[in-house]
Amino acid sequence: MVIVGAGIAGSVQALLLARAGFNVTLVEAQEPASVDEGLNVRSVALSCRSRQLLDNHGLWPTDLGCPINEVHTTIRGQFGSVRLTARDLDVSALGYVVANTEFERYLLKLVEAERAIELICPATARLICTTANSVQMQIGSETVEASLLIAADGSHSPIRESLGIEVSKKAYDQFAIVANLGCQRDHRNIAFERFTECGPLALLPLAEKRVAMVYSATTEATKKLRGLSDDQFLRAVQELFGGKLGRLKSVGRRAVFPLELIVSRSQVTGCSVLIGNAARTIHPVAGQGLNLALRDVFELSSQLTPERSVAAALEEFSIRRRADQQQVIRQTNRLAETFVRKPWPLEIPLSLAKSPSMLLLDNIAPMRNRFGASAAGLRLPANPSGA
Ligand SMILES: Cc1cc2nc3c(=O)[nH]c(=O)nc-3n(C[C@H](O)[C@H](O)[C@H](O)COP(=O)(O)OP(=O)(O)OC[C@H]3O[C@@H](n4cnc5c(N)ncnc54)[C@H](O)[C@@H]3O)c2cc1C
Repeated sequence: MVIVGAGIAGSVQALLLARAGFNVTLVEAQEPASVDEGLNVRSVALSCRSRQLLDNHGLWPTDLGCPINEVHTTIRGQFGSVRLTARDLDVSALGYVVANTEFERYLLKLVEAERAIELICPATARLICTTANSVQMQIGSETVEASLLIAADGSHSPIRESLGIEVSKKAYDQFAIVANLGCQRDHRNIAFERFTECGPLALLPLAEKRVAMVYSATTEATKKLRGLSDDQFLRAVQELFGGKLGRLKSVGRRAVFPLELIVSRSQVTGCSVLIGNAARTIHPVAGQGLNLALRDVFELSSQLTPERSVAAALEEFSIRRRADQQQVIRQTNRLAETFVRKPWPLEIPLSLAKSPSMLLLDNIAPMRNRFGASAAGLRLPANPSGA
């Protein structure tokens, strides 16, 4: 089997398949990144379900990530909040904020120690040809034949293009502004999601008195924030977020990503399958991209067994994963779109206001019901003044 792309999705996939008895060639174009430190760490929020899946396969190191014990969702210019706690749901944490490079390094060590995985890095993989039962790849100067090709090569997947899989694309009029902030008060392991008139602002807990900010801001707001000095930037975020974390004192390296929805028209063709951002790239408003990708990765590895044909496994995989994928795409898209429409709609339905936390929970039905009960009364004003 060949896996193209050793991001988190591709690396986890390789480890699962190797442990299930397959020989895997894992190809990665880039040298491993050096581990980010201090306020420059880049991170993702992984749900308690993702942790459980990884933990069950020994893929979660004991000290990984900062636990999220509560989620507070608020709307700027509006009283009240929606709160969800780990205790309400009888779990040890709702999710974990994990440093990307730290997790990638950990997975890389496991990959290198796994005899059934041949890691080729740095090298670029290119598709030569494909039949119903095999693929031929050019990897560096070598030609490799495989019975399954897994493309985990990111949002603009060159393999997806070579396979002729079309995508539907939609650009949001938004950018994700990402930075870590040092704050005066302890976050008490609370993840804050605040809907502002320029887009949703998430502050996720990190070690010590630090938070990871993901602000999905309109193009107009992004332009204004981009040109600011660190001090001006901190004041602007403080103004949007308020004083729950005391004074926002410092900011690390800032990064800005254009936001778009990219969905491949099919995830499987012949003996090839797309995984992670290659299959779909979604808005980060609910922190679901990697969580959704991991659920695909685990399902795919449970369908692929040495006794079964690849075609049968891929067909079953597609059927089993469709509902979850469609639901997450629909919910995140709806949530993202609500905040680019001006003026804001008269009333944001309750289900929408609580979506980020709900999605963090990966749609576990009993949890959703209890959360629904605690969320009563949250409404958006007709045209928020931004107060
Ligand atoms: C601002 C922001 C915040 C986010 N927050 C969250 C969050 O809180 N929770 C969450 O679950 N998700 C979150 N996401 C989404 C998450 O980051 C992605 O879903 C995830 O990183 C996708 O991983 P991947 O392995 O599919 O792709 P990538 O990480 O892009 O990896 C693809 C790899 O393929 C390699 N590659 C590409 N082409 C080739 C080739 N031809 N040959 C060899 N190698 C190749 C690349 O070098 C790269 O290493 C967020 C996204 C953004 C933008």
